[in-house]
Amino acid sequence: MSDNNKAVLVTGAARGIGAAIARRAAADGFDIAINDVANEPDAQAVAAECRALGVRADVWMADVTDWAQCEAMVKSVAERFGGVWGLVNNAGITKDALLLRMTEEQFDRVLNVNLKSVFNLSKLASAHMIRARGGRIVSVSSVVGVYGNAGQCNYAASKAAIIGFTKSLAKEIGSRGVTVNAVAPGYIKTAMTDALPDEARAALTRSIALGRLGEPEDIAKAVAFFLSPDSGYITAQVLQIDGGISV
Ligand code: NDP
Repeated sequence: MSDNNKAVLVTGAARGIGAAIARRAAADGFDIAINDVANEPDAQAVAAECRALGVRADVWMADVTDWAQCEAMVKSVAERFGGVWGLVNNAGITKDALLLRMTEEQFDRVLNVNLKSVFNLSKLASAHMIRARGGRIVSVSSVVGVYGNAGQCNYAASKAAIIGFTKSLAKEIGSRGVTVNAVAPGYIKTAMTDALPDEARAALTRSIALGRLGEPEDIAKAVAFFLSPDSGYITAQVLQIDGGISV
């Protein structure tokens, strides 16, 4: 049984940063709702790891771009755990191309997965938090949303928009005891960055003050802080976790 008896829904949590966030939140005593879209075996494995830490954890397969699927998922999570204390909007994709070559499909898909998902789930989950007069929303933006990056107009736009969304929603629901914050990771070792050619990775590493790419756990630790009681007076903030990147 969990210490907190509070549930946290983490989107895109079958692997990478989302899985690390789920494991860490479970270690902190939260019940965990693992969401993913296609990779059920990995999602189930993360849920099993969370349960091994002594909390309740289950998997909800749903496409976060789809309002009806999100609605059904949040309803079911709330029924299972008796509420939704925390939401971590982590699911995200890239479809990189220089703007002149970027297709409408590449633009729309990235905006849908990275941004519309944040609208869908924040709206649905915050209704439960407001009713409970407390809760936490943490969204995963990116340093690319702050600084921009050639070849990522779609991704940078989606991640910058998350920052505006976060600050606005924080002002709407702060009086109900709900905090809304974002983390902006730099370059973190996951499937998303495995695709980088060796040369690009070496150049990137030289631009990082701490001299290494980050680990998913580096992000999970910051998200854990935003989920915890210790961050109760912190809202509308964007924390860059990038090892001191210079662009
Ligand atoms: P991964 O690609 O490793 O994981 C992303 C997860 O999101 C996958 O499990 C994927 O599921 C899931 N997902 C994709 N689309 C959907 C959808 N429509 N509905 C539900 N789940 C979905 O990425 P990372 O762990 O690297 O990234 C996590 C977040 O961190 C993203 O928002 C990313 O933009 C952000 N970020 C990452 C950085 C990095 O360097 N890695 C840097 C800055 C930000 P499936 O495998 O089933 O498709």
